[in-house]
This record gives sequence, structure tokens and C-alpha cells, in this order.
Amino acid sequence: MSNTSKLVTFRNDDAGYRRWRRAHPRGYVLNLFGGADARENVLHRASCDDLTPKLINQSTTSVPKVCSDDRTAIDAEADQLRGGRDRWTICDHCFRWA
Ligand SMILES: [Zn+2]
Repeated sequence: MSNTSKLVTFRNDDAGYRRWRRAHPRGYVLNLFGGADARENVLHRASCDDLTPKLINQSTTSVPKVCSDDRTAIDAEADQLRGGRDRWTICDHCFRWA
């Protein structure tokens, strides 16, 4: 199985994204705001509270989410999409005890 097949990206598909998070509580989600700031392109555990919108009708996947159960695959994808390991970060909250 290639790394790519372990990844799924949700864009403007909040229902699909919510389903994925429910089905993969131990997975990982890369929040891809884009731009130059590494702190706006953050890898979370699927269970992280930071991924849950604070406002009821706020869309989450207007910002694309790359999802995977495979940490190695999603790290490699983040490097690829962002152009380097220094251009994205891991979440301070959900990886604190990793
Ligand atoms: Zn997090």
C-alpha cells in the first residue's frame, strides 16, 4: 500500500470529515491553512478539542483537512504539501503527552 492511499483529504465536506474523526479516534488530522506560518498548519490527533468548532454553524473543512491513521504517512504528506518539516508544527495540546 502506498502512503497516498493511507491519506484522505476533506475540503468543504464537514459531514465526511466528522464521520472520519468518529471512525478514527486514534488518527491524525493536518489542518492546512496554507501561507508561510508554520503555526497555522498544525498536525493534531483526531480526538483534539482544537479541531471542534467553537461556533455551531462554523464550517471546519473550508480549511482543508488531511487525515490518516498512519503518523509516518501524514508526516511525509505534510513535508510534501508544505515544502519542508519546518513549515508545519504539531499541536501543543494533543501531543503534549506523546
Ligand atoms: Zn491538537
